[in-house]
Amino acid sequence: MINSKRYQRNLEQDGITKEAQEKLFASRVLVMGAGGLGSGVIMNLAALGVGQIKIIDGDILEESNLNRQIIHKYKNIGRAKVISAKDWVQEFNPDIKVELDKIRINELNYFNIIQGYDIIVDCFDSYESKYMLNEIALRHNKVLIHGGVQGFRGQVTTIVPTKTGCLSCVMQKPQTFKEEIYASISPVVNLISSLQAQEVLKVVTGVGEPLLNKILIFDGLKSEFKILNYAKNMACEVCSSIGA
Ligand SMILES: [Zn+2]
Repeated sequence: MINSKRYQRNLEQDGITKEAQEKLFASRVLVMGAGGLGSGVIMNLAALGVGQIKIIDGDILEESNLNRQIIHKYKNIGRAKVISAKDWVQEFNPDIKVELDKIRINELNYFNIIQGYDIIVDCFDSYESKYMLNEIALRHNKVLIHGGVQGFRGQVTTIVPTKTGCLSCVMQKPQTFKEEIYASISPVVNLISSLQAQEVLKVVTGVGEPLLNKILIFDGLKSEFKILNYAKNMACEVCSSIGA
């Protein structure tokens, strides 16, 4: 499979050796959310040749999702997003093994879902879920590729337990969460999701430098990228409560 022409252009990139491509194909990546960010992440992972993708989402596809959730087809409105996303992957790259779970994860049901996966991609749309996932990843020593979008702005960072700060070290966890699901549009959400997939590529293959202790911030209205450095915050309540 690695020798097929499908991955030929990957192998022409500096550092993406045959061994690196094989590592991608042997990797297992858990994608939390099959909405806006999840669409782009799943499509890019399937194109890169990540061999096993697990997709978690509890929602049904609605027409209003289709301004940005480009993995889903119009005919799938009313179906589970996980099934719609799996259909796309299987049509696009039948080499990829897809697992799915139509479930909304919480502190009580996540344990079995994360077993066997060392990289989790945060494609949730709610910050409450993102901070929960940050704690789960920290507690179970999983790499977390965080992405978030608020309107025309978005951010990406890669969190490696014991090596980097956590999500709350860089953006302090609020005491309470308000209604804070931001509407987003396709170009911004798919840019951020592409950058998340690129982080997966870097973490799995060792090519390039992942955004460790760095957060990339994109402002779509100004077409500006900024990278801010951060570090583990010794006063971080999340890190100290988990003992990370
Ligand atoms: Zn922290």
